[in-house]
Amino acid sequence: MKFQIDKTSNGARACTIETAHSTILTPVFMPVGTQGTVKALDANDMLEMGAKIILGNTYHLYLRPTSKLIKKFGGLHGFSKFPNSFLTDSGGFQAFSLSDNSKPDENGIMFKSHIDGSKHYFTPQSVLDTQYELNSDIMMILDDLVALPNTNERIKKSIERTTKWAKEAIEYHMEQKAKGVGVHQNIFAIIQGGTSKEFRKLSATQLCALSDFDGFAIGGLSVGEPNQDMYDTVEWTTQFMPENKPRYLMGVGTPEDLIENIERGVDMFDCVMPTRNARNGTLFTSFGRLNIKKAEFKEDIKPIDESCGCYTCKNFTRAYLNHLLRAGEITYFRLASLHNIYYYLDLMREARSAILNDNWVEFKKEFYAKRGK
Ligand SMILES: [Zn+2]
Repeated sequence: MKFQIDKTSNGARACTIETAHSTILTPVFMPVGTQGTVKALDANDMLEMGAKIILGNTYHLYLRPTSKLIKKFGGLHGFSKFPNSFLTDSGGFQAFSLSDNSKPDENGIMFKSHIDGSKHYFTPQSVLDTQYELNSDIMMILDDLVALPNTNERIKKSIERTTKWAKEAIEYHMEQKAKGVGVHQNIFAIIQGGTSKEFRKLSATQLCALSDFDGFAIGGLSVGEPNQDMYDTVEWTTQFMPENKPRYLMGVGTPEDLIENIERGVDMFDCVMPTRNARNGTLFTSFGRLNIKKAEFKEDIKPIDESCGCYTCKNFTRAYLNHLLRAGEITYFRLASLHNIYYYLDLMREARSAILNDNWVEFKKEFYAKRGK
């Protein structure tokens, strides 16, 4: 991967990441395509909205339809027909959160499939083998997750294990590359440590010393801690991360979370929020959230957001969306998801342009002013 910083403004970074499949301009939001598709949308929708990278979930794809099958179709790109980049997670998070009786040990995570109860074992090496078959552009390593709050002893253990697995993963990846496997694929490590400064520093310094990694992620946040704790942890952690590699904050968040963390030096984000919230009626706009299900929108002739350039806002009224949602029409999910994803992608484009113009402070002020904050 090629990486360069194009400009910084008040701590916020505008960078360019080049993978084998696309050129990604940051800050970037990666829509979540759990099952090889962003829910209710397809590859052409993503292309039309200008998405350069989407996320796939290794756990789901490994179990069904299996990475072996996806490999036969030319990996995720060939299978889904999305030609730009994919980032795949390690599967560890879902093994931890979705399956029954997941159990980590020193060498990996044993879990039962949530689909058929079959037993599987993920190791730092096996999750890379799966991601080689998926042929994602950025692969995440297996990390040892802990539910928060937890004891210091357990968090310490998680950091030790995560570092041990990171060393095994990067060693394995270098061996595989030497054999011609995953040559164009990049690999990111994941910094853990809860909201503790001491643990975050320990995890960040241990992992960032492993200089063969192509980028670094901050994991284990946005799991119910107060927002300010998340922002403080990110601000503290980024100082231990290299400047010349991408920084990815996993699973975050609201539009406000993105703006706050861009200012703290984060380049990449992903979250299910725009698609999940679209499905329950919450639409993101330049003036804040709007619940389209409310009776006040029944006869509203305006689009969701007059300043939005998405397909839905250019063609349909709030009244129509309100009706489709109340009637349980599948079309609602598509139109609402198109709008929310477009809003997130466009917010990142605006943020980048503010950084390039060294206009970050004014941009952020205006972002909150439009929301009445
Ligand atoms: Zn729109």
